Amino acid sequence: MQNDQSNVVLETLSTPVEEAVDVLVLGSGSAGIGAALAAARLGAKTLIVDPAGYPGGTLVSGLPLLGFHDGEKQVVYGIASEMFNRLKALGAAMGDVSRSTCVNVDPERLKLLIIEMLAEAKVSLRLHTLFARAVTSEGTITHAVVEGKAGRRALAAKIFIDATGDGDLAESAGAPMEKGRREDGKMQSMTLMFAVGNIDTTRYEEWGGYDRMVREYIKVSESEHFRNPRRTDLSGSWGSANRIGERAFNVTRILGYDGSDAKSLTEAEIEGRTQAWEFLERFLKPHVPGFENAFISWTAGKIGVRETRRIVGEYVLNENDIVSFRKFDDTVVCGSYPIDIHSPTGDGTRFLPGEFYGGRYWTIPYRSLVPLNVDNLLVAGRCLSATHEALSAVRCMANTIAMGEAAGTAAALALREGKSPRNLDVRCLQTELIARGAWLGDFAASPVTGVR
Ligand SMILES: Cc1cc2nc3c(=O)[nH]c(=O)nc-3n(C[C@H](O)[C@H](O)[C@H](O)COP(=O)(O)OP(=O)(O)OC[C@H]3O[C@@H](n4cnc5c(N)ncnc54)[C@H](O)[C@@H]3O)c2cc1C
Repeated sequence: MQNDQSNVVLETLSTPVEEAVDVLVLGSGSAGIGAALAAARLGAKTLIVDPAGYPGGTLVSGLPLLGFHDGEKQVVYGIASEMFNRLKALGAAMGDVSRSTCVNVDPERLKLLIIEMLAEAKVSLRLHTLFARAVTSEGTITHAVVEGKAGRRALAAKIFIDATGDGDLAESAGAPMEKGRREDGKMQSMTLMFAVGNIDTTRYEEWGGYDRMVREYIKVSESEHFRNPRRTDLSGSWGSANRIGERAFNVTRILGYDGSDAKSLTEAEIEGRTQAWEFLERFLKPHVPGFENAFISWTAGKIGVRETRRIVGEYVLNENDIVSFRKFDDTVVCGSYPIDIHSPTGDGTRFLPGEFYGGRYWTIPYRSLVPLNVDNLLVAGRCLSATHEALSAVRCMANTIAMGEAAGTAAALALREGKSPRNLDVRCLQTELIARGAWLGDFAASPVTGVR
């Protein structure tokens, strides 16, 4: 290929190999953290890489953690539970994962706790580093090429875990992928999280609090013509632990952008920020008692992306698996959050809460973390192998941490046994996960037939 107006040739650039590890985790969101901690705790030399200035991804964007509980019992234990309980012991979380599916965290203290937990497990953390492309040989990844201030570097590993949320590594390595809905590729809408401070919360709660605020928003939005396309619902507001007079808001809706494209993401960030200020200035201040002197106290480090690319792996989890509470022989994660699709095209959210939280839980099979075609790669988090619909349920952070824990444990066991993750004995993986504190459901005594 010659240089021309649409292409430049880069392939002859020599790239220094900077580090060789056992397990390289790309992305330090909830899934990446679970993966890195699990792999390192089993003795694997582990490096985790992220382009942000702190680890945590969407986990530290001010959201509550969902998915721990099915209404009768806790269904996610392990690292997710440990992390929450440690945060609570520090006075920086509210709620009880043994009693409720929704718990609140202080995202700033959580950022530091994650750093502390990674250090305790001897995970190397590399921030300000973006994965750029995979180097492969005969269906195996040899290097992840990353970019940082010092330029382009190659990182070697025996097993790679793609926790980028967008499946960046899997895509680059040649694993089959899909994006958005099967019928038209459209993805769930994005949301920029923000918080509002200096609220007179006594006046607000006496007026009717969040429930009345939503009714008021629906009424006002009929005539106010907000940029935010939401007209009939909002997705929540809550007070974070320790933050007096502050409420976080999951209300902006950014439609039609692609979270796996930087140009599109830039436009989405601008739209999200504009909607956040619109919500404060044109709705909260003039219409909601207690917000007269409020201000935006923080916005998330980056816009929240619910969905982009997913691998098409050994098994594609689907909506029926979720709503029928299917139990897989190769279960590695349990959960109970319902289908929850933030409309990709406009107003409304498809949410099926009534059928859930009655003591029933669905499961995620190990095969949904195992991509096709690439041998030393596992995937965890929102880029797992699932349909658009199934992803909308399994994307909760208790579950994405647990997916990471499963992938990290599988990577360490595969290394120990000299096998590819695809050929790992799933029963050994399940036994190890349970020994380390996971709960894999009632099936645990039944025989397992293998990955395929
Ligand atoms: C607005 C919004 C509201 C939500 N509400 C809730 C809620 O209330 N409760 C709940 O439990 N769940 C909620 N979810 C779902 C949940 O937050 C996500 O599904 C989950 O956090 C995804 O975790 P992840 O680790 O897969 O991805 P992410 O959190 O997106 O993490 C991916 C990480 O990879 C990094 N990365 C990306 N590309 C690269 C690259 N090329 N190289 C290296 N690193 C890379 C990113 O910087 C990031 O740190 C919400 C999601 C959104 C967006």
